[in-house]
Amino acid sequence: MARNPAPDARPVALTIAGSDSGGGAGIQADLKTMEAGGAFGTSAVTAVTAQNTRGVESSHVLPVAEIEAQIDAVLSDFDVRAVKTGMLATEPIVASVADVAADLDAPLVVDPVMVAATGDRLLDPDAEDEYETLLAHATLATPNADEAEVLTGVDVEDRASAVEAGEALLETGVDAALVKGGHVPGDRVRDVLVAPEGVETFEHPRVDTDATHGSGCTLASAIATRLAHGDPLVDAVAEGVSFLERAVRYHLDVGEGPGSVHHLV
Ligand code: PLP
Repeated sequence: MARNPAPDARPVALTIAGSDSGGGAGIQADLKTMEAGGAFGTSAVTAVTAQNTRGVESSHVLPVAEIEAQIDAVLSDFDVRAVKTGMLATEPIVASVADVAADLDAPLVVDPVMVAATGDRLLDPDAEDEYETLLAHATLATPNADEAEVLTGVDVEDRASAVEAGEALLETGVDAALVKGGHVPGDRVRDVLVAPEGVETFEHPRVDTDATHGSGCTLASAIATRLAHGDPLVDAVAEGVSFLERAVRYHLDVGEGPGSVHHLV
């Protein structure tokens, strides 16, 4: 991404997501990525997770009213140019964010975070159905293969099934869907953007590392950052995918478990 524009050219972006004490994913990844991309990052914390590179020790979900108060504090003061959602944890939070999204005057990127790479659940199973209400107001959904399957029932195993899942997602009312290929085996990663105008495939070699913690958060935030700068969706996705490819390539082996992507590449 282009970086460090003059301070007055920094658009404001908002992330609504969980805190990762390990710094690689969640709110921390989002804010680092937004700053790296020349946006001013603001945040509404949905849950506080105690975690490191080995896994999630505990998770404390904030009351819905506290989350709404944070969102309101930001939206009532800043000229927010893009919003990104990550870990929303429970059904009432998804429903509340969907209400906010209905009145939003900025692009909205929804990363439907469900399970951490370590296998820890970050979304109550009974919240999955509520995602349709949020997606109805979103500019872009960025599910990985597992999340796409939960949301659509389509088993994503290649480009054709990614397109099928993306088309099913468009029926929720979301403007476009980026079905990510990182979890699909193969030497090359194919992220498939499905929009009413057509399908675009972003393909790059797989980086051979398990230090991918924070990759979903970083990609969605990089795309939201470019949307905040005013890029058209396809350009924002292309920039986001290439930013993430570098972030994974230059990953950081922090901690004893699998490391994290590098957000400031
Ligand atoms: N949000 C939080 C708070 C997390 O802890 C995690 C993963 O641990 C995620 C989101 C999803 O991370 P990723 O970007 O690796 O998909």
